[in-house]
Parts: sequence; C-alpha cells; structure tokens
Amino acid sequence: MHTTNPPATEDRAWDGSPKHRRPPRFLRITPDSPTRLVRTAQQDRCPACGNHIEWYDRTGDHNPIPLHPHELPTTAVPPSQRWHINSGLAHPAGDGSPWCRVRHRALCPATPAPPGNSLLDSLRRSLALNTRRLHDTGRFTPPPRPDPPPTNPPTPDARPVVQLLYLRYLAPGPLERIPCVAQTRNRHRCPHPILDPDALPGTWTLAPLHPDHNPGHLPLPELWLALYDLTHLPYSEQLRWRAQRCTAHATAPDAADIARTTWEPFNPRIHHQHIRHHLPAPPHPTRRNRG
Ligand SMILES: [Zn+2]
Ligand SMILES: [Zn+2]
Repeated sequence: MHTTNPPATEDRAWDGSPKHRRPPRFLRITPDSPTRLVRTAQQDRCPACGNHIEWYDRTGDHNPIPLHPHELPTTAVPPSQRWHINSGLAHPAGDGSPWCRVRHRALCPATPAPPGNSLLDSLRRSLALNTRRLHDTGRFTPPPRPDPPPTNPPTPDARPVVQLLYLRYLAPGPLERIPCVAQTRNRHRCPHPILDPDALPGTWTLAPLHPDHNPGHLPLPELWLALYDLTHLPYSEQLRWRAQRCTAHATAPDAADIARTTWEPFNPRIHHQHIRHHLPAPPHPTRRNRG
C-alpha cells in the first residue's frame, strides 16, 4: 500500500494522464566496467525460453545473475530462493520486506522443475505459455536440444522386419507391442497387440537381404537379414497382420479402424539402421498357465 500526493493539475493532460512521464531509462555500460554490466538491471531474454530476465551484479567476484524481472510476495517463495536488490547489487536472501526476487532459473520453463511450489509453478506455467506464444509468432527460436544421454541400447528386434504376403515390412515397434488399430465398443483404441501367444507364430529366419540374391553365394553375414516370417501362415492370418488387428478384431467388420496401420514397406537403403544380420536370441522360455 502506498500513498502519493495528488499531482498538480498542470502536470496532467486533459484526460488525467501524466504529462511529464519520466522517459524510459537507457542503460549504458561504462567502457571500463570490469563486468560490462551497469550497476542496475540489464534487460535481456533467457536464451533457453525467451522470457525477460534482468542481469544483476553480485557482491564479491561472483558471476552476474539473471533474475525474474518482477518482485514476488516473500511468503510465497522458499527462503532458500529469495533474493533482494540493494544498491544495484543482487543479494541471495530476503531483506525483510514483503517482496523479494527470484532467479529466473527457478521459473525457467526450459529447465527441470524443482520440487513443487504453487506460486513458482503457476509462474513457470505462464512463462511456458509465453515461450510458446513467442515461438508461434516467430520471435523466439529455442536452442537445439542437446542429444539425450544414451539410454538402453537398441534391442535386436526394436523394429523388426516382418515378411507377410510375400512382402517385407518394417514393423512400427517390437513384435509384442505392435498395437491393434481397431476401435472398441466404448470408442477407445483396442489395447491389445496383434501378436497373440495363442495364435500361430511366425518364425525368425535369415533371408538374403536382397531377395534376388542367390542364398548359395552369400558368404558375408552382412548380406543376410533376420526377419520374422509369416508366409507359412494361413492367408487370413497374414491379412490380419497386414490389417494390424488383434485376434479379437480380426473378423469384426463392425469395429472401425481408429488409427492407420503403421507398417512401412521395407527398403534396405532407407532402413539400414534397423537391419539385423543375426537371429535374435531365443526368448526365455515361459510357462503359460491357462485354466
Ligand atoms: Zn528461461
Ligand atoms: Zn483389437
């Protein structure tokens, strides 16, 4: 709460707006400043999210720090995250006033969210919306994401080649996870995979990578392709795989497709990273208990 004396009438235009508005301050850097920063907020934008930040010097020889440009109610900010400005320098603590500052990093939507705090979370969400707005209007381009750290190495059958109806297809994912594309009665996508342990299985086999090669003249393993072969299955079963439907939806003409099938015609030149030259290890034998 603050009070101001009513301004003299000659300071007001006919509509009540102040005539002598203080012009915006232009910040200049003194050429011999060791930090190249002025002793007051230097406006900038976060390179990761595009939102406004203010750079402040700190005491000592710490690096300058980017703060969120607005004050927040101190009680809503954890003590460890409070900053205040004194004599143009940022200090890592509250100053006993009901308002404080926070590092931009505590709110930056491009950095992982620290443990929940309702005010900081909602501010972070609004900054994230602003990032999207800036991005949509072409005023901000997020930096390219660093490559994610390597997780699990690709499993041999991450995207296996499947042969059916005498054609080869690259599967959208591991055999056990190729989803049925049918719509269920309650209008959701069928949750079942098309591979059914109770249906006739295909066989893993090594076949010439280029079908016109004579298998008798392929000494190099690189010329062989491990594929999951269904060509010995009944025609109707191969059609079911091609239509990407689980056994329950194989013959359910009233069930519409809710998604497209995701087979890709296999092309050795395009799909070379999915080519496996050796058969996958046999699966661990599992006992099926069926009553
Ligand atoms: Zn940011
Ligand atoms: Zn289904």
